[in-house]
Amino acid sequence: MIVFRLAASLDNYTRLQKEKGHSIGFVPTMGALHQGHLSLVQRCKQETDIAVCSIFINPTQFNDPADLKKYPRTIEADILKLEQAKCDVLFIPGIEEMYPPNRAAIHYELGNLENDLEGMYRPGHFQGVCQAVHRLTDIVKPHKIFFGQKDFQQCLVIKRLFKNFQIPSEIVVNSTIREPSGLAMSSRNMRLTDEEREKATAIYKALINIKNNFTSVPFDKLVSDSTSFLLQHGFSKVDYIAICDANTLQPVSEWNGSQQLAVLIAAFINNVRLIDNMMLTDE
Ligand code: AMP
Repeated sequence: MIVFRLAASLDNYTRLQKEKGHSIGFVPTMGALHQGHLSLVQRCKQETDIAVCSIFINPTQFNDPADLKKYPRTIEADILKLEQAKCDVLFIPGIEEMYPPNRAAIHYELGNLENDLEGMYRPGHFQGVCQAVHRLTDIVKPHKIFFGQKDFQQCLVIKRLFKNFQIPSEIVVNSTIREPSGLAMSSRNMRLTDEEREKATAIYKALINIKNNFTSVPFDKLVSDSTSFLLQHGFSKVDYIAICDANTLQPVSEWNGSQQLAVLIAAFINNVRLIDNMMLTDE
């Protein structure tokens, strides 16, 4: 695996590869890699000739400085995992590569995606995500870029970003990788004790329950029952449980039989905030 730290060097490399007729796939991450990230690398390798992964803990997407400080940093283990996964290229940019002083600040138009759900609880988060992904995409110029459904709203934001800026890369969304218990893999799980990890599976149980019952039980009852369920099973706070149109994230109170629906959850176990989601209708 070739490791680049400078945008210009990576740019030279990808340009050469493209001249040779090779397609470039790209998996942006913030490190602390687990099987969820590696599944994206694997898919990237299946679908493109050169798999590029980036690790950059993007400060502008953390609305809470304490959260940024606590974010796990495991670069040596990450490099080993990427080598084992036969990733071709790793890009580890410094802050000055990502935010060069001559790059003008942009405000991204995200409509309701900006302030709904995650946006409401993490003001500015998606502006930060767009800044980082836009910059990385400018550098890597991939044919295909890979994201996890785990960050459902982020995927919709990225689709909006690419449409607004006519970025020609194809966006591939890969399904969420879970522990055998159903817990969605996440870098934040590292901060859970064994007991909390066990309790955290209540999110998956709530998602499955909503999926099994959304055609027969009113949505507001599903949401209030699921909120109580999480609070009774070790969660200290539920930010939201929302049943939404899967393409627009607009709230839906009743299914019309054809709309694609998803349910999204964000909740705390002690001070660790977990998010997860599930499609209710066929994907
Ligand atoms: P992060 O490092 O948290 O920014 O995540 C990098 C990419 O990995 C994003 O596209 C995430 O959606 C994806 N990802 C994180 N966890 C999972 C998971 N459990 N399954 C699939 N993809 C994931």
